[in-house]
Amino acid sequence: MGNDGGSIPDRRDLVKSKPKAEQADKANQVRARWGFCALSKKPLQEPVVSCALGRLYNKDAIIEFLLDRNVYGDGDDICGHVKSLKDVKTLTLTPNPVKASSSDDVDIPPAAFVCPLTMKEMNGAVPFLYITTCGCVFSQAGLKAVLGPSPQAKADGQEPGTREKDLCPQCTKKFDRVEDLCTINPGPEEEEIMMEKLAAARASKAKSGKKRKAAVAEIFDTKDKKRERVVAPSTNPSIAASSRIVVEGLAEEEKKRLAHMSDAVKSLYQGKSTKADSNWISRGTFTRYA
Ligand SMILES: [Zn+2]
Repeated sequence: MGNDGGSIPDRRDLVKSKPKAEQADKANQVRARWGFCALSKKPLQEPVVSCALGRLYNKDAIIEFLLDRNVYGDGDDICGHVKSLKDVKTLTLTPNPVKASSSDDVDIPPAAFVCPLTMKEMNGAVPFLYITTCGCVFSQAGLKAVLGPSPQAKADGQEPGTREKDLCPQCTKKFDRVEDLCTINPGPEEEEIMMEKLAAARASKAKSGKKRKAAVAEIFDTKDKKRERVVAPSTNPSIAASSRIVVEGLAEEEKKRLAHMSDAVKSLYQGKSTKADSNWISRGTFTRYA
């Protein structure tokens, strides 16, 4: 191509630019994150919940997932950190007064929800967050404007317990502006910080879980010992032999059950190590609609 006198290369031939499809793909991903359930990939429909990582889900999808963790193939990759309904918060969202039918642009429908303070659409263009105590959702800029400036002394200088609480501008419930805000669909860097925070919280919980696991193992251990003691004093050799076979079978079964049990217990506390955390969380993707 070119340099043979036969053709003149122009800019398009020489400059490698991102293909248009890739850009459209990114826009689709953003739209998927903000308009669709991260788990079921269906359009967000109230009640909508969010996890500690600020992902958005339809509540019914999360309930389905909690009942059967395999119901969505990649469910554990997306929200493996959600162990119960206590790990998600039901959001108070403000429906967008602009409906899809009244929009001129058919290709990009208006977002389903808006910030009640600024009326900005919740579509990924501006950062949004929710208050973890009451679940109200605002644009970051809107909430910041309403709360007023946060003097460093107010935000950092004091312990969370003694710091003056703010009031939610929508439901007037008290919240802490440092501890109780969760960014919705954070960027990669912020998501990592949120993951670390979640992992730290899980690690402190897992300590008591370890004890429980040890207790379970102990119970099974003593059961086995008891059974052996009962068999030993038998005087009739044939009965002793046959019952020993039965007991051995039972012990085998018990062993299997114990192995299975500890696996289940283990899976409950998988989030204990940070390394594992970064794996199962970072595997989450939103590419199904892209
Ligand atoms: Zn509120």
